[in-house]
Amino acid sequence: MSALRNTVRALPRGLRLAPAPRRLPAVSVRSFSDHAELTPTPVFHLTETEELLKESVSRFANETILPRVREMDENEAMDKDLIPQLFDQGLMGVEIEEKYGGSAMNFGACIVAIEELARVDPSVSVLVDVHNTLVNTVFKTYASNALKEKYLPRLATESIGSFCLSEPASGSDAFALQTKARKTDGGNGYIISGQKMWITNAAEADIFIVFANLYPERGYKGISAFVVEKGMPGFNIAKKEKKLGIRASSTCVLTFDDVEIPAENLIGQEGQGYKYAISILNEGRIGIAAQMTGLALGAWENAASYVWNDRKQFGKLIGEFQGMQFQIAQARMEIEAARALLYNAVRTKEMGKGFVMQAAMAKLYASQVAGKVSSQAVEWGGGMHFVREGLAEKYFRDSKIGAIYEGTSNIQLQTIAKLLQKEYTK
Ligand SMILES: Cc1cc2nc3c(=O)[nH]c(=O)nc-3n(C[C@H](O)[C@H](O)[C@H](O)COP(=O)(O)OP(=O)(O)OC[C@H]3O[C@@H](n4cnc5c(N)ncnc54)[C@H](O)[C@@H]3O)c2cc1C
Repeated sequence: MSALRNTVRALPRGLRLAPAPRRLPAVSVRSFSDHAELTPTPVFHLTETEELLKESVSRFANETILPRVREMDENEAMDKDLIPQLFDQGLMGVEIEEKYGGSAMNFGACIVAIEELARVDPSVSVLVDVHNTLVNTVFKTYASNALKEKYLPRLATESIGSFCLSEPASGSDAFALQTKARKTDGGNGYIISGQKMWITNAAEADIFIVFANLYPERGYKGISAFVVEKGMPGFNIAKKEKKLGIRASSTCVLTFDDVEIPAENLIGQEGQGYKYAISILNEGRIGIAAQMTGLALGAWENAASYVWNDRKQFGKLIGEFQGMQFQIAQARMEIEAARALLYNAVRTKEMGKGFVMQAAMAKLYASQVAGKVSSQAVEWGGGMHFVREGLAEKYFRDSKIGAIYEGTSNIQLQTIAKLLQKEYTK
């Protein structure tokens, strides 16, 4: 059990309340008195728990992950020693209840962790992100008690999870998926056949949430979600992709050749898989917004340190030229704007309000800022940031994925526009 978890558990949870004012203003209305105690805070104000977690994850990322980042990127593989440490830190079961061995924290804490990890390595960040915001959340929200008892303790302490929706012919149009499920003859199980593509964490994972169509004649309403485990006969992790960025994060092709699974491995209800996928990906997008915001800040900080400490030209630190200062200031402002959208989406979700548009905006904008800032940060470092010794060029390569996975930028724009049109149609 990590020290982090014990400390965090000792702290109060929930939004921090400011001390009650001694005297209410003369205009106070009794029905508003509950709200009078709340002092408005910046949208990215963190609770004590989240603040403590942020410090702890930042220390872990800088001391333990940073020394391995360059080598993991060159090797295109996650350092195997790192994975047990992520579990020990309580980072793989952030929102899983204590009775299942999790850290029992809130969604905001999970986002803080993803953001802090991405500041140092977006690959480690996405490993933690997919595992927590997609896989753990599916089990927590939709699985039977038996499945929760079987898998949540493993997911919190030792086994990595993957979320398998995309296929060679279905990316943005995810529900055109071709992977099929059918019932076994005796009706005691299901048989899955088909192929999945671009599956994050697949090389390290033991537990896979697989979407397959049980009733193709019903179209997307036949899609169901199943648990498949590594090692089941007929299930293969076929190919690990070589990528532009986030190269230490595994992305694989999976094949299912009549994989037989027990009936209890159905998640939730038959035919409801598309609903589960939509709702989980809405939440997952906030995770990607956190990854991209952390990445942008990491790239900016790396460059700021260089221009204000290391490099002189024309007898001056290059960060003292106004032409540089203006760009650096502009970039930092855009990162702050991305963080505001990110934490607005987090808090909207935590309040139990509709957050789909906020999540889409946060993901879209954070990925745009990450792309722009990490590109500028390469330029600010000149030749030094173009070579593969530091991390500037890596942040730049890593940023591109933000516009692609968990809904491309066009798909986010489409979601935002649809919701706005609904609101404004007379
Ligand atoms: C590194 C990586 C990790 C991934 N991890 C996972 C994972 O863990 N699990 C998983 O299930 N999937 C995963 N994916 C898949 C990812 O979600 C898809 O790549 C993504 O949804 C886009 O689908 P696509 O690649 O087929 O692109 P396409 O859908 O072919 O899109 C190509 C282009 O067409 C545009 N386009 C498509 N439809 C429209 C439209 N209606 N209007 C306007 N423009 C449109 C897109 O915006 C894009 O620019 C991963 C992908 C990558 C690269």
